[in-house]
Amino acid sequence: MTLDLVKQKYINEIYSQSVGVHEVHNDIDLPDELFNLFIRKEEFDNKIRDQWGLWEHPYSDNYQRGKLWYPEINKFFFENYKTNFKNVWPDNHKFALCITHDVDQISEKKTFCEKARLFNNRRVSGQKKIEAMLKTLASLTKINSYGCETEKTIKWLLDTEKKYEASASYLFHVYPSKKKSKYDCTYSFSDTYKFNKSKINVADLCKELKKQGHDVGLHGSIHSGTDYDIMAYEKDFIENILEEDIVSLRQHYLNFDIRKTPGIINKCKFQIDSTLGFNRNIGFRSGICSPYRWYDCSTKKILDFIEAPLIIQDAALFSSTALEFNLNMAKSTVNKIINQVEKYYGCCTILFHPHLFVYAEYRELYESILENAKKNGAWLCSLEQLNSHWRKKKILNGDN
Ligand SMILES: [Zn+2]
Repeated sequence: MTLDLVKQKYINEIYSQSVGVHEVHNDIDLPDELFNLFIRKEEFDNKIRDQWGLWEHPYSDNYQRGKLWYPEINKFFFENYKTNFKNVWPDNHKFALCITHDVDQISEKKTFCEKARLFNNRRVSGQKKIEAMLKTLASLTKINSYGCETEKTIKWLLDTEKKYEASASYLFHVYPSKKKSKYDCTYSFSDTYKFNKSKINVADLCKELKKQGHDVGLHGSIHSGTDYDIMAYEKDFIENILEEDIVSLRQHYLNFDIRKTPGIINKCKFQIDSTLGFNRNIGFRSGICSPYRWYDCSTKKILDFIEAPLIIQDAALFSSTALEFNLNMAKSTVNKIINQVEKYYGCCTILFHPHLFVYAEYRELYESILENAKKNGAWLCSLEQLNSHWRKKKILNGDN
């Protein structure tokens, strides 16, 4: 398929998403610079990456033009073509807030076993190794698994989401069986934590989340993004625990190699991914606030999985290596971004890490986002719900 045909196909898909029904329009055009932003051509053509091997916001054309915080593609359709904007979202909701949690830690504290795995992951040598061992031993004497609470992490989240009748995606990391990275998470599915005045292991916690109406998906390990066998193993692992297929994915550290990862996600048959975002800024990496099928620049094909771009993440707002906002700045910036998504009838995917809810500003920001979005008519949904909504409405046009 030529790039012109791909572009026309996407124009119709995106236009159809805007009006909520599938319609073909051959008279609609999209400027090449916006189309290239959308298919991530700059990222495919340019090999520059940051210290974690990732494409970050300073390299992006829309950041350099001062447009990273604007969904330019939705704006273009909104301003240039008359659209109906009815039935885009279920039950006449005006826009969608897709809620996701990367479960990097279950509790704010690590269990005995987690600390041992962390030590193993680091693989340091010489003097550093001795120092790391002493540090680990010192902390092991103070904390065991029974001290590891979820009261201020996952339990707090479940209570809050129940209050707002919100469904969320909880993405779990599978401890790598081979090829570990020092950045990988350290819990295993047999580790036990305090939950609801009782004890629960991670496998049962996943089942409990499903029971409460949430989505459970994979938070792919560092090496899974470039190795099909690893990602397939991790997907399989969670599916065996839940005894059902999982559909949702986000890569740990947003680790995403544009040449390899999309093909692996597709081959693993994930239906929806939300890795396309930044660790050190918020905004619209591909210029759009709607879910869409991924265009693979390597094979020049539209793949089957849907990308729900990550627009806002907690760490990018507060971290000292990122925007380093205080609570008021974070609140007002997030409002500006979500107001735009609402204006263009789009979807804002947010990421909050459960273990960071021990901090009051994370709890306050999260609750204010849910409260405002609900008040303004948002559909508070998970990745799984978002995926099935788009596929059910047949807005996506099957073939390539
Ligand atoms: Zn992570």
